[in-house]
Amino acid sequence: MSENKDNQVSRRQFMVAAGAVAGMTIAPGVILNTVSAKAADDAVSNKNRWGMLIDTTKCNDCSACVDACNDEHGLKSLGRPETDAQWIRKVTIKDKKTDFKRELPLMCQHCENPPCVDVCPTGASFKREDGIVLVDKHICIGCRYCMMACPYKARNFIHETLTEQLSVAPRGKGTVEACTMCVHRIDKDGAYAKTACQEACIKSGHNAITFGDLNDPNSNISQKIKEHGSTKIRADLGLNPAVSYQGI
Ligand code: SF4
Ligand code: SF4
Repeated sequence: MSENKDNQVSRRQFMVAAGAVAGMTIAPGVILNTVSAKAADDAVSNKNRWGMLIDTTKCNDCSACVDACNDEHGLKSLGRPETDAQWIRKVTIKDKKTDFKRELPLMCQHCENPPCVDVCPTGASFKREDGIVLVDKHICIGCRYCMMACPYKARNFIHETLTEQLSVAPRGKGTVEACTMCVHRIDKDGAYAKTACQEACIKSGHNAITFGDLNDPNSNISQKIKEHGSTKIRADLGLNPAVSYQGI
């Protein structure tokens, strides 16, 4: 369920006002919590660390997130499935001993210690202060070292000349790309943003994806992780992804 713009604005105004009275009780048992909203002209800072939590127990027989990401960023099939761009994909994991299986969506995990950034010879792969890992198309030389370094196989190389690109996702032949965590939405709405995959997941009725600020202990994502814990895929690598999963 997405909020309309008026609702977002009035809600934001309310929350800014509420920020002055953080933690204030407005009725017995009801406490106002602050949300670290980012105004459009606020600089990106490490005050926020944006992340996503995926409840795999709610993710089943559905590709709404994949379709939404493709639509949002203008990713179209160019007739060669083996080279089609995919910023998010559905995978099935299986425990060999027990046969326990789960479907889950896998995208760039926005690692705190991203190996893709470490190996990039030009600085095109970079991590913002708020933890979002991006590629600067202007200085990407298409060497694809980052694709080899990523343990999640989260990056694509653009093989074809592209037309009809969207302004929110400028792309270019010969460069590498990956999930941006819908950074254009975050830069517009801050903590009130919903990623396109999350929005589609809610519309599908599954509501398996939660986006939010991992640095804010009162955010939905932090509260859900506090209550039920979460698992990072290949946590043993020490990359500390901003994407984590429940139910695996
Ligand atoms: Fe880089 Fe891969 Fe980590 Fe994303 S998941 S930050 S592409 S290493
Ligand atoms: Fe795609 Fe945005 Fe979801 Fe990343 S956060 S997988 S860019 S829809």
